[in-house]
Amino acid sequence: MKLIAELDNLADAFAAELAGVASAAEAESLRNVRLGRKGDLAALMNRLPELPAEERPAFGKAANAVKERLNRLLEDRLAAFRAEAEDASLSRFDPTLPGRMPERGSLHPITLVMEEICGILNNLGFETVYGPEVETDFHNFGALNFPDDHPARDMQDTLFIAEGIVMRTHTSPMQVRAMLERKKPPVAVIAPGKVYRRDYDLTHSPMFHQIEGLLVDENISLAHLRGVLTHFLREFFGADVKLRFRPSFFPFTEPSVEVDMSCLICRGSGRREDGKGGEDGCRVCKGTGWLEILGAGMVDPAVFAAVGFDPACAGFAFGLGVERVAMLKYGIDDLRMFFENDLRFLGQFVK
Ligand SMILES: [Zn+2]
Repeated sequence: MKLIAELDNLADAFAAELAGVASAAEAESLRNVRLGRKGDLAALMNRLPELPAEERPAFGKAANAVKERLNRLLEDRLAAFRAEAEDASLSRFDPTLPGRMPERGSLHPITLVMEEICGILNNLGFETVYGPEVETDFHNFGALNFPDDHPARDMQDTLFIAEGIVMRTHTSPMQVRAMLERKKPPVAVIAPGKVYRRDYDLTHSPMFHQIEGLLVDENISLAHLRGVLTHFLREFFGADVKLRFRPSFFPFTEPSVEVDMSCLICRGSGRREDGKGGEDGCRVCKGTGWLEILGAGMVDPAVFAAVGFDPACAGFAFGLGVERVAMLKYGIDDLRMFFENDLRFLGQFVK
């Protein structure tokens, strides 16, 4: 039984070698050399014809038993390597370390300012309405009493989509839409949203935000406009803010006013902290003590006529630039900060 003896030798050698391997990879290569299809055990089994016929079944049985046993030894060893690797990785895991918090997003400062403004005006009874950013010439200009040759219709200012279709240049078309929808007074709406012009520099962006206000009812006067704007600006900027109206011109209001508020930095004095006044005074208001904040006026009878309201109606309208208001509130001097999406900037407004 020479072959049987070699079988035992092979099994002993394999067991000794397996005890000496240092890694799962080494164990695998040992499996190939000893137990693989071209390995030592296979070579031994190929010598079966050397045996007398009556011994062959016993040898075949013994060889298969050895193969099975050695494979089991090898699997145990591989399992031991896997368990070791798992222990090692667990020992590197420190359950006492603090977790990593996911970063929290925040609303954009323009959104925050719009929400705050709308909130104040909603409390006065104005309803928030929204409308399309692509407008007809009728809603954006015609019904708002812009003559056909008004410079705002020029290619320089307006982005045209097609003949008679524009990107709205202001939120005022929402006055027209609100009155057409309500059909008669009273109308009290505010319309926040994006507007578009061909313009880009430190203080102008081709897309920016406005909030439009419109109140139409009986016996409305400039005094009501002044009351609403005073309340709004004091709620938003502080109780000591003063207002002044300057005569101005807009096609859709008559009379029209430019509304200034007292400077937030010098409190309307126009002077610097060291007392210097005039042109050398406060940098923010350029020594005047006043900041332009919005445009407004009494709705022009021509607008009422265009939407089918009795031209004897009375109402006021106002429009303000949200970026302008946000810059004043937060002391930001470059409009482009709002549109560059720098998280270090945007993260400062988290509420
Ligand atoms: Zn000032």
